[in-house]
Amino acid sequence: MPTSTKPASLGQLKTEGIDVWAWCEDCSHHAVLPIRSLVERLGESFQVPRIKSVILCSQCGSRNVDAFPRWRSLGVVARHQV
Ligand SMILES: [Zn+2]
Repeated sequence: MPTSTKPASLGQLKTEGIDVWAWCEDCSHHAVLPIRSLVERLGESFQVPRIKSVILCSQCGSRNVDAFPRWRSLGVVARHQV
């Protein structure tokens, strides 16, 4: 289980160079949302869990889309920079 319960912001992901993965629950369509374009649209303080409330599936138009950071690998996420 993650030890941090604070939602990541788009600015944090941009700093780490991590894109967002979106998955449609209805048709299983999935796509990578480039972090830079998300920051341009939504701003750096936008919280990652809220992305799913502002996106639609480009294939079926469903709002039932999940979105989450595409962390590079589970082994190296503990590197923190200030
Ligand atoms: Zn869909």
